[in-house]
Amino acid sequence: MKNKKRYERPIIKQLNTGLMNKFGTRTEYMPVTHIDGVPVKKLIEDYGSPVFVLSERKIRENFKSAKRIFETRYPKVQFAWSYKTNYLNAVCNVYHQEGSWAEVVSIFEYKKAIQNGVSPNKILFNGPDKTNEDLILAIKNDSPIHIDHLDELYRLIELADEMHKKPRVAIRVNMDTGVYPMWDRFGFNYENGQAWDAINKIMASNKLNLIGLHCHIGTYMLAPYAYGVAANKMADLALGIKKRFNKSITYIDMGGGFASKNTLKGAAQIGADIVPEISQFAEAISTSLLNAGFETDDLPYLYLETGRALIDDAGFLLGSVISNKRLSDGRRAVIMDFGVNILFTSFWYNHKISPAQKFSHYTEDCVLYGPLCMNIDVVRENISLPPLQSGDRVVVHHVGAYNITQSMQFIALRPAVVMIDMEGTPHIIKSSETVDDVEKNERMPKHLESFKL
Ligand SMILES: *Cc1c(COP(=O)(O)O)cnc(C)c1O
Repeated sequence: MKNKKRYERPIIKQLNTGLMNKFGTRTEYMPVTHIDGVPVKKLIEDYGSPVFVLSERKIRENFKSAKRIFETRYPKVQFAWSYKTNYLNAVCNVYHQEGSWAEVVSIFEYKKAIQNGVSPNKILFNGPDKTNEDLILAIKNDSPIHIDHLDELYRLIELADEMHKKPRVAIRVNMDTGVYPMWDRFGFNYENGQAWDAINKIMASNKLNLIGLHCHIGTYMLAPYAYGVAANKMADLALGIKKRFNKSITYIDMGGGFASKNTLKGAAQIGADIVPEISQFAEAISTSLLNAGFETDDLPYLYLETGRALIDDAGFLLGSVISNKRLSDGRRAVIMDFGVNILFTSFWYNHKISPAQKFSHYTEDCVLYGPLCMNIDVVRENISLPPLQSGDRVVVHHVGAYNITQSMQFIALRPAVVMIDMEGTPHIIKSSETVDDVEKNERMPKHLESFKL
C-alpha cells in the first residue's frame, strides 16, 4: 500500500470570474458578434465555416501608426512588407498602397512581388537560397540583394563579371544583442569579424556596389534594448566603411521581429499586457542611429521589414462548434471545425478565443480540439469558455501573421479568406479550396487508371 495516493478532501470554493484563480485566468468575457461592423453570423453564412477574415482598416491603421512612430523619431524611413508573414496579393497591395516596398526571402516571393507590380529596385531580396538563375534575374532588375553567406558572395562576383554589371548588394549581419539563443544562422557575424571579412571582400573585388547593411535579429522579440544594441553595431559597421573606404552606404535595414500582441504559451501574462509598443522599438533604434556619429547630411536610410506586429491583430479566424464531449478524466472537450493545419501559430501561442453569441456568466475549463483525425490537433490545451453548443460560433483573434502562409492542406480543404474593406464591405480575397485545386498537379500513370474491387 506504499504507493497509495494521499487523500485530499474535496472543496467547494467560490470563484471570481476574471481574476486569477487555481483554474487559471479567464480572459474572454465578451462575445464578439461583429468584425468591422459585419456580423460574424453573416460572414459564416456567406463564406462558410471556418473562414479567415482580415480587416483592411486595421491593417492600414497599424501601418500608418508604425510609420508615424518611426518618422517622428528618424528622418529617413522606408518600410518593406515581409511577404512571408502574409503574402495574399490583396494584403500585399494594401501595404504597397501605403508606400511599403517588398521584402522577400525566396524567388517565389520575389516573383509574386514583381507580379503585384512592385518595381524591382524596391524589392529587398533576402534568404539563404538564391540560385544563379535567381541572382541573374535580380542583377538584371537592379534589386537590392542581401548576401547571406560567402558562397553567394563569390557567385555574385562571378556573375557581375560575366554580366558586366555592378549588382547592388547588402550583407546580412548577425550579432550578439543580449537575447539568447542568438540568431547566428543567417548572414555574417559581427563579433568574430565575419561581417568585416565580407565587407572587405566586396570592396576589394570592386565588382559589387555595397549599398546597405541588413540584420534581422529574431522574431517575436520582447526586448527593445536588443534593437538598440543591434542598431549600434550596424552603425559601427557603416561608419567603419565610411572611414576605411570613404563610402557612405545608403541604408541600414533593421529587419522585422517586433512582437505582436499574441500570448506565448507558458507566458505568465497575456501578450496585450507585456508586449512592448512599437514606439519602444522605434525609440531604441532611432536613438542608437542618431547618436552613432553620422554626419547629418550622411544619415543612412532606416529600412524596416516589420511583419507580425503590423498584421497579427488584423486577422480573425471564425469557426463553429461541431460537438461537445466529456473526456474520461472528466474534462470538457469542445470539437471545433478548424484545426492546427490552418492555425499553425497555435503551436506557440495561446490565442484569444471569443464566443460570437451571448452567453451566461458561467464558464468552464475545456480543451479545444480541431476536426482532424490526428492526436496533435489541439487548438488549446486549456481555456476557460462558457458552455458552447454545437453550431455556436467563435472568433479566434490575432491570426493575421503566418497562419495563412503556413497553412497546410491536410485531411481537410483550406477555407476562404475574406477582407473587409474600409466601408465595411467584405470581399473574397481567396476562395476556399476545392478537390480539383488539390489534385491539379497530380498525374495518374496509365497502368494505375483503373481497378476492379
Ligand atoms: C520573417 C522575416 C521578417 C519579418 O519578421 P516578423 O517577425 O514577422 O516581423 C523580416 N525580415 C526577414 C529577413 C525575415 O526573415
